[in-house]
Amino acid sequence: KPNLTLKDIKVEIEGREILKGVNIEIKGGEIHAIMGPNGTGKSTLASALMGHPKYEITSGEAHLNGEDLLEMEVDERARAGLFLAMQYPSEISGVTNSDFLRSAVNAKRGEGNEISLMKFIREMDSKMDVLEMDQKFATRYLNEGFSGGEKKRNEILQMMLLKPGIAILDEIDSGLDIDALKVVAEGVNSMRNDEFGCLIITHYQRLLNYIKPDFVHVFMQGRIVKSGGPELAERLEAEGYDWVKEELGIED
Ligand code: ADP
Ligand code: MG
Ligand code: MG
Repeated sequence: KPNLTLKDIKVEIEGREILKGVNIEIKGGEIHAIMGPNGTGKSTLASALMGHPKYEITSGEAHLNGEDLLEMEVDERARAGLFLAMQYPSEISGVTNSDFLRSAVNAKRGEGNEISLMKFIREMDSKMDVLEMDQKFATRYLNEGFSGGEKKRNEILQMMLLKPGIAILDEIDSGLDIDALKVVAEGVNSMRNDEFGCLIITHYQRLLNYIKPDFVHVFMQGRIVKSGGPELAERLEAEGYDWVKEELGIED
């Protein structure tokens, strides 16, 4: 079973400490949600784990399937089965979506084990059906002119093709209307099994109506301050974050 374990992870951006000791363990078969106010470091956690050079991990440990994640290059992390769906996916002009996705799949499979073009197209078509994406998105340039919601669907398409062991989905629900939200949730739910663990980062509870998390973590001031089950997300939706601050004596 895949496993991502973080111990006391601290991260600085340009000398300012943003993450102040993050602890979490995500195993295959589990869906975790991190919820928290804006600007508390949720995206920083995702970017730092993928090895973004701007985010300096100053202390703590991160292990992916027992291997030291912090010793791995960015491409090694992906090959080892870590996937990040970004809050703001980038656009690449001149590269078709289909070519990009196939390169990503082949990079993960490794040299000598490339997927055949036919097989790839068949697989991409079937996943695009699940996500109710028009076939024209295969031949358009990567994310260029895609709406916010279309970019998010495309991130999920990429995830479904790459079949990561651990996926981190950063605000995959932002910019989605309710129909798109359901479709994206269906894509994530279609991956649920013991070989897939997922961390959903979100500001709102509504996505969690369609993807039932096993664990919910409240994120504030650069760390997880409270953990619980799905009922915690419901209470945050109903009452906001203030009660957590009061309960824990946190001041803004
Ligand atoms: P969240 O995802 O919870 O909204 P972020 O991780 O995006 O929060 O941001 C946390 C803090 O780190 C903010 O103060 C933000 O301005 C800062 N920050 C995030 N990314 C960068 C960056 N690339 N350069 C400078 N500051 C950043
Ligand atoms: Mg934000
Ligand atoms: Mg964010």
